[in-house]
Amino acid sequence: MKGTKVAVVGSGISGAVCASSLARNGLSVTLFESARGPGGRMSQRRENVEDGKELLFDHGAPFFTANNTEVLSLVHEWESKGLAAIWKEKFGSFDRTSNKFVDLEQEGLISKRYLGIPGMNSVCRALCREPGVESKFGTSVGRLEWLEDQNLWSLIGLDGQNLGQFKGVVATDKNIVSPRFTSVTGKPLPLDLKLFPELAVKLNDIPVRPCFALMIAFAEPLTSIPFKGFSIKNSEVLSWAHCDSSKPGRSTSSERWVLHSTMEYAQRIIAQTGLQKLSDATLTKVAEELFQELQSLGLNISQPFFKKAHRWGSAFPATSIAREEKCLWDGNKRFAICGDFCVSPDVEGAIVSGLAAASKLSEVFSCL
Ligand SMILES: Cc1cc2nc3c(=O)[nH]c(=O)nc-3n(C[C@H](O)[C@H](O)[C@H](O)COP(=O)(O)OP(=O)(O)OC[C@H]3O[C@@H](n4cnc5c(N)ncnc54)[C@H](O)[C@@H]3O)c2cc1C
Repeated sequence: MKGTKVAVVGSGISGAVCASSLARNGLSVTLFESARGPGGRMSQRRENVEDGKELLFDHGAPFFTANNTEVLSLVHEWESKGLAAIWKEKFGSFDRTSNKFVDLEQEGLISKRYLGIPGMNSVCRALCREPGVESKFGTSVGRLEWLEDQNLWSLIGLDGQNLGQFKGVVATDKNIVSPRFTSVTGKPLPLDLKLFPELAVKLNDIPVRPCFALMIAFAEPLTSIPFKGFSIKNSEVLSWAHCDSSKPGRSTSSERWVLHSTMEYAQRIIAQTGLQKLSDATLTKVAEELFQELQSLGLNISQPFFKKAHRWGSAFPATSIAREEKCLWDGNKRFAICGDFCVSPDVEGAIVSGLAAASKLSEVFSCL
């Protein structure tokens, strides 16, 4: 049934891949995204500094890996269009206890690390603009209503605006059924799980792991660090650091690094602050603590001219709820839920899940 109207909620990689695949199958896709731009946890953050310059940071996923054949074939297509590339740098690991680096290449622990070009969000951005996909950014879906008599979905915005009616819907964020949505927005949950009693059991309260990202910029290169990305072992505060400006396609006018906190550190802060928007004072304190930990590694780090922390309240799902099926699906109501929480807590898992949801929805319409 060509031209059938369907909606995708979320422009992270699962939603973007799903929307593109549905449109390539002839469906007319409207994609809604709460944020101002595409990418979700594959976003790129734009920061203005005092002298009017802009600093860009991949403050979510720094890179991704791919093994699945379908995913690899998409990644190769993105590479051929200049939207993705391999990050060919040296990667290591630093042990806080022995104060020593290990070269992962020498240990044989390297797999290809893929990047979006010129930012991690470039793939999502391109997919959201494909023919057949109409993307509406800055539009939060506040309610997904099933109209039984019309056999249709009606989508309503967070402020009550009518977002249209659709034959099928794919939701890509577990927040639409999570109490987190209500605690952050103060509004009721967008989806009434009584519509899907069998899916409700799986979706109930998916555990998540939080993380803080610290974005820092230096006027001069940090020559004392022998790697452009390294994990940090045996630190209570830091788990990862990478040089964002070493990635292909990025500006090299300053040296920009992104650090990730440990999950335990982020949980400790969230236990004190809750999930509400963090105050500037808390974010400054977190930024200081993460930077101090980097300094304490003994790597001779100079003072950055820019330093800012970002909280990812649910950076990684702590469980996978549809490892076999790859997405949750109700054929009668033509409703799918996909995302990394279905398959594995990474970009590859999110792509696999988005493709599975698109395939379910496309199949149902091709039979009509
Ligand atoms: C700090 C950090 C480091 C990471 N490191 C790696 C890594 O090294 N390698 C790797 O592979 N993965 C990594 N990941 C994980 C990876 O980013 C995710 O697995 C993947 O991006 C998830 O994609 P998704 O589409 O499932 O979800 P998301 O990217 O979260 O997309 C969901 C989208 O839905 C939107 N949305 C939610 N509710 C609504 C609504 N009501 N209306 C409209 N829009 C809505 C959200 O704004 C969001 O854009 C990392 C993540 C973080 C945060």
